[in-house]
Amino acid sequence: MINPTSLGLKRRDLVYQDSKLLLANFALTEQKADLEKTKGNTKGPIGDYFRIKTNIKTENKDGKESPMNEFYRTGNKKLLMFDFNWWPLTKMEGQQEDFNEVFIYQLKGCNVNCNFCFVDRFNNNGAESHGAKFFSVEELVDSFAETRKQKKQEGIKLNVLRPSGGEPSLVPEQWLAILQELDKRGLSSEVYLQSDTNLTTGHMLEQLMDKGELDKCILNKIAEYDNFGLLSCFKGTDPERFTENTQCNPKFFEEQFYSYNLFANAGIAIYPHIVNPNSKSLEMFADMFAADHGEEAYKLLHLFSIGPYGPVKSRLERRGEMYALAKMQEWRENYVAGEEVLENLLQNKFGIAYKDAHRPDIVEQMFR
Ligand code: SF4
Repeated sequence: MINPTSLGLKRRDLVYQDSKLLLANFALTEQKADLEKTKGNTKGPIGDYFRIKTNIKTENKDGKESPMNEFYRTGNKKLLMFDFNWWPLTKMEGQQEDFNEVFIYQLKGCNVNCNFCFVDRFNNNGAESHGAKFFSVEELVDSFAETRKQKKQEGIKLNVLRPSGGEPSLVPEQWLAILQELDKRGLSSEVYLQSDTNLTTGHMLEQLMDKGELDKCILNKIAEYDNFGLLSCFKGTDPERFTENTQCNPKFFEEQFYSYNLFANAGIAIYPHIVNPNSKSLEMFADMFAADHGEEAYKLLHLFSIGPYGPVKSRLERRGEMYALAKMQEWRENYVAGEEVLENLLQNKFGIAYKDAHRPDIVEQMFR
């Protein structure tokens, strides 16, 4: 079973060298095939190392109303998988439409092994293989700025840069360096930096700080920027489900809370999501989360559904087609059952519907 702390240290050494980041190459990957099925939202890869994603579909397609338009018509927030577009609005000027397009790169290393990972396994292993390439932060921001300029000519606003992975928090230095670079270029009030964490790196980061290999104040320095937000993902609501999802030792289930608190206590705007919950333990999980952060914290919990990505299907189908179909069905059911639990919980506690609370305001009041 995986120890995410020790694997994280090993992978970090591989993907972060001479202040450069090893990025995954999308060429010839199953993920690239997914990106090219645009489905009206993903604009696809740009070259081999970058891609653009549209958070919420804006165009009606094949006679079907887009989630954004349906949301405008009904006001039902449950239609929106993400509330990413709303995060920058607490501190930055603009409309939520201005933050719908996201420029993404992927660090080629992760410290866990989720069975629903959307990335081809070889693009998460830290090895300098499959066309991976090291980039400096200046080169990354140059690529973003150049693409942003091109998209502007097409009438597309590109105002979000997202370091993804892999596990971006293996190298928090990238967040601070990009924020500084954006600042240097006068872009801090226009460009929002959104990144992700799988919440298994808290102790790893502290070990690096203790050894003097990472600035002890780095998270506080990142938190000083208003144009940064962190998407965090709890991979399961109990130790058993956490292990099933990530292949990590179950004792690291609590590392998720530890890591969340490390970022939150530094003052970072961190948003919690849960993937593949166990509906039987979800309420207990929510109580644990609220025990750390207070009653309002219940309103922060959002669920992610698992997409039928190419790498996921191939991985599952190696165990047989029937197994793959049953697993995808099980994940869908867990998502629906989880939504029901959160709906009941919020109705009973606060008389509000799941997703009715405005998370950015709560995050601002709670952590910033
Ligand atoms: S944490 Fe993210 S990148 Fe890492 S294996 Fe899980 S889904 Fe993939």
